[in-house]
Amino acid sequence: DSLLLKDLRQREIPVISELELGWQQAVCLNVSVTGTNGKTTTTELIAHLLTHCHKRTRAVGNIGLPLCAVADESKQLDYLTLEVSSFQLETIRFFRPAVAVLLNITPDHLDRHHTMADYARAKARIFENQQPFDWAVLQSGALERFRAAGVEIPGKLVTFSATDPGADLHLDRGLLISRLPGWEGPLLDIDQCRLSGPHNAENCMAALAVGRILRLPLEETVAAVKSFAPPAHRGELLGGVRGGRFINDSKSTTMHSLEAALRAIPMASGGKPNIWLIAGGKDKGLEYHDVAPLLSQRVKGAFLIGETRERLRSAWSLFTPCSLFGSLLEATDEAARQAVPGDVVLLSPACSSFDQFRNYQHRGEAFREAFAGLLKRSEGGV
Ligand code: ADP
Repeated sequence: DSLLLKDLRQREIPVISELELGWQQAVCLNVSVTGTNGKTTTTELIAHLLTHCHKRTRAVGNIGLPLCAVADESKQLDYLTLEVSSFQLETIRFFRPAVAVLLNITPDHLDRHHTMADYARAKARIFENQQPFDWAVLQSGALERFRAAGVEIPGKLVTFSATDPGADLHLDRGLLISRLPGWEGPLLDIDQCRLSGPHNAENCMAALAVGRILRLPLEETVAAVKSFAPPAHRGELLGGVRGGRFINDSKSTTMHSLEAALRAIPMASGGKPNIWLIAGGKDKGLEYHDVAPLLSQRVKGAFLIGETRERLRSAWSLFTPCSLFGSLLEATDEAARQAVPGDVVLLSPACSSFDQFRNYQHRGEAFREAFAGLLKRSEGGV
């Protein structure tokens, strides 16, 4: 919306993203991953899978290393594995993935995209220049959203879902099952993976589908998926103090990722709530009520911090006991005091971090330090 960009558009001067420039310079095929949540996890997983199968790749794009930085090197690669954000897709022209993966679309960045339909259209641009021989790997729920919005997908489709048994790859009692012609049957038991929860099952399905499309051997792709650990700050298990486990999910900045984190934690025996949740941060204009019923099933108490703490309390306090804290450290100490063996202390803020921290890594580091302090005190018998 800036005046400079408006002026350039008026003068019909093309404005392209760094992604477009990098793509125009690169000389190898790319597998590109977008979605509201799970991009980094899935991009790294696919790069790990390709490397495990002796293909040369680099994970680049929104993940940290710009595509332009490796465009020259691309002649030595088999594939680029690209993480792509909706912001980058706004200003593409010819960018075309050989395999485009769309993980999910749920409300996020509405401060920028204004409406869900705008946001979905921005994400759908990943398919825009694909040809009929390219591939689109999509969550079946996201595909329905696109169809309702009249978005056409020109490439060949593979769908996946943890909840829709009609998808080409789906989850049934912990097994990832394929119904793709010539590839029918169970592929992988999610309990044998280091990634956990239905959301990560979807990330694994997307990666396995990419492996299938690129004709990598199934045994090797399955071994690669099993050995992959979640990246830092994304459902990262820090360890235990006095029987309570601590999970760092600082990268969780939406209600959708909070919901995924809650569902990924196994229920206590008897089905009683066993999670102490630390949440809150900078307001992104999201709707906080939808997750409330799940909180009442899973969360023993919520410790709320940051700019959004009052708003979260008004949305959640009917569903779980809520208390407000001035800092992450205080909230962590109190959660640790309340936790009993079998409980989980989960940092999954559902908000961005910029009110109190430099970024989500800084927030996650602060949580790790708070955990290390608790561990030291408990070992010292204090
Ligand atoms: P992104 O790069 O899209 O932000 P990340 O892989 O960094 O995604 O994960 C961001 C947050 O979303 C983390 O809290 C992570 O645990 C959670 N997450 C990962 N995959 C999914 C998924 N498929 N659906 C929902 N949440 C997910």
